[in-house]
Amino acid sequence: MRIVLLGAPGSGKGTQAQRLAQERGMPQISTGDLLRGAVAAGTALGTRAKAAMDAGRLVEDAIVLGIIAERLDAPDVRQGFVLDGFPRNIEQATALDAMLAKLGQPLDAVVLMEVDRTELVRRISGRRTCRDCGRVFNVSTAGGSGAPDEACPKEGGPHRLFQRPDDNEHTVAERLKVYDEKTKPLVEFYRVQGLLRTIKAEGSVLEVAKRLDAALGISKRPAIARRHRPPAGALSAPRARNRSTPKRSR
Ligand code: ADP
Repeated sequence: MRIVLLGAPGSGKGTQAQRLAQERGMPQISTGDLLRGAVAAGTALGTRAKAAMDAGRLVEDAIVLGIIAERLDAPDVRQGFVLDGFPRNIEQATALDAMLAKLGQPLDAVVLMEVDRTELVRRISGRRTCRDCGRVFNVSTAGGSGAPDEACPKEGGPHRLFQRPDDNEHTVAERLKVYDEKTKPLVEFYRVQGLLRTIKAEGSVLEVAKRLDAALGISKRPAIARRHRPPAGALSAPRARNRSTPKRSR
């Protein structure tokens, strides 16, 4: 299946995309993760993207479309994928349609994940990421430290949590504004294409997972799902890694 997860920052797109990747082997393509990777690697592209990201604005389309074109060119996406954080405006959505038409692989579904504004802000301000494994937790749901009593699968010790620099109060307000102005029009864009499905994305990760699977018509959960259920208190399963991303110079 080729899917787009649509929703405001903090709506749980990354959490569910990562879960689908783990359970179904569908590559998660997160432009936020790809851009953070470029920033961390200090590439020219990352340097150009950083200022916009820090301010909560959209990174310019040319950069984002470049990384998406490269990612969609990789062989692992031939069996399907979950796009998370892309497209984010009409120009990107139009460009995506053209890219996929060229590949003969149109989208199957776009799922809008709806979350109340107060809950979005609460989730974003409580979000913490493990420096080593990339797993995302939430201090507001997991108690004091934000991480459950499990070892980091990468380093073996406790998770080393940090807060994303763009998860501060000012930037969050800007990101929500950008979502309303630039990304929300995609709801109508995909509705008229007959691709849009909407789910309530509040509640536990598991509850949202069930609604999402039902919306996608994949309600029967595979055996592997039971082994990879996110631990209590975790906002999401591992994210931020795009492990399947091919290592290529940009
Ligand atoms: P969130 O969904 O919580 O806002 P993301 O990780 O998806 O977080 O994105 C973080 C930042 O990366 C965005 O605020 C934006 O600056 C940049 N970004 C991510 N995806 C895109 C995109 N498709 N187009 C432009 N900028 C993007």
